[in-house]
Amino acid sequence: SPTLVWFRRDLRLSDHAALSAAVARGGPVIPVFLRDHTVDALGAAPKWRLERGLEVFMAALEEAGSRLILRAGPAREVIPELARETGAGAVYWQRAYDPASVERDTDVKARIREEGLEAKSFAGHLLFEPWTVETKQGAFYKVYSPYWRAVKDREVPEPVSAPSGIAAPGRWPESASLANWGLGAAMNRGAAVLAKHVTAGEQAAQVRLGTFMRDGVADYGETRDRLDVDGTSRLSEYLSLGEISPARCWHAGLRAQAEGKAGASKFLAELAWRDFAYHLMWHTPHILEENWREEWRAFPWKEDRRLREVRLWEQARTGIEVVDAALREMYVTGYMHNRARMIVASYLTKHLMVHWRVGQAWFDDCLIDWDPASNAMGWQWVAGCGPDAAPYFRVFNPETQAEKFDPKGAYRRKWIAEGQAHPPQSALAYFCAVPRSWGLAGSDAYPEPVVSAREGREAALAAYENRDF
Ligand code: FAD
Repeated sequence: SPTLVWFRRDLRLSDHAALSAAVARGGPVIPVFLRDHTVDALGAAPKWRLERGLEVFMAALEEAGSRLILRAGPAREVIPELARETGAGAVYWQRAYDPASVERDTDVKARIREEGLEAKSFAGHLLFEPWTVETKQGAFYKVYSPYWRAVKDREVPEPVSAPSGIAAPGRWPESASLANWGLGAAMNRGAAVLAKHVTAGEQAAQVRLGTFMRDGVADYGETRDRLDVDGTSRLSEYLSLGEISPARCWHAGLRAQAEGKAGASKFLAELAWRDFAYHLMWHTPHILEENWREEWRAFPWKEDRRLREVRLWEQARTGIEVVDAALREMYVTGYMHNRARMIVASYLTKHLMVHWRVGQAWFDDCLIDWDPASNAMGWQWVAGCGPDAAPYFRVFNPETQAEKFDPKGAYRRKWIAEGQAHPPQSALAYFCAVPRSWGLAGSDAYPEPVVSAREGREAALAAYENRDF
């Protein structure tokens, strides 16, 4: 009987345990992608990026003699229905770990089994299943360093290649049309600008990994924090949609380490940060929505998106150049440098005293590498309320950060047009990307700081000192 392989955020053919198992089971394989509430809940840029990913993935499956069947609706109904319709004997998928997906998958699994079919989920989105990493006392880890010590020498299975043949069913079930879904339609802010920065798909992901391993990883330790240097792997968008497996990245890192490339161990440690975020989300799912440390729930964050300072922050017009450059980089490319994410998050939560959830929501909408676990952990880390958080008195000074990590101002000039006689295309692109309703023009004067670096720091520290816990 056929096997349904339900693809979600794992749009690849190689190192895909569920697909390999379906092929090994014998018989036809029917790949399916479901547009359900978890897809509809995505922000504009991640949804747009998903559409790009699906386009490429569908073509890859066709090249392999197969197809991707698109369906929409609640998984608990649609997946068993498709199984009945195709006479499938088994449904396989790769695990997801966010609470909404876990709830859905548990329900679907039970329903499929009720019908007497095989339902099986596989690992693959992470290096280590979150429940397999435990302290000596059998608890989960709340701090990264001991987590890292616990996992760094673990065996990670070698990535496997794509199956050499994926048997097609005699008759394909009907499929919805990707174009009709209009997943990219919410991207009413210059998707054409974003598209220049995106090459979706498994093949592009592997090329990126190869290039980074050849040219980037050796110096990664020194250059990864530099805003003005292209010093990181840029693999996050591929990892986010599962166009590459973390195991493949891990093994490439191990090989680079064995070749004596200095930055490789740092790269491995960063991949483990991604797993650590999932470890936290799995054990404490409230990290996605609530201050992880309960005592922070009393902290007087502002949380109204209509506030002037929030609007200026979102629109990248805070008047603090490095903050605005970073927010414009994200608006134009769907990506923001890690150091820059920390700087803009610190400015929002500390200088402007705005709740991290406001920033998290903006990132949810703007990032093509959006990841529920890393985004929530990143925000809570910077805001100081997370499990493994930067101490509250650590207020990033955006000006000293800029001097240190963008010493010649190249990053700021790349993204801020105002005040430059001949601004580069990258900086002008922001004005093409923003909606008309913002009323911005490249010829405007650069804004005055909404809160200066010094004032904001003093106000934040005073509020933090006065917190009653
Ligand atoms: P590299 O430096 O090349 O690192 C390699 C890989 O390691 C990354 O692709 C990523 O998967 C992982 N990694 C690196 N740093 C981190 C980290 N701090 N936390 C978790 N994983 C990490 N990352 C996302 O993928 N999606 C998000 O939505 C996201 N939101 C963030 C929000 C905030 C406020 C902060 C501070 C960080 C956030 N990060 C997020 C983490 C980090 O900024 C990005 O993973 C990184 O910038 C991606 O660039 P890269 O692939 O070139 O990373």
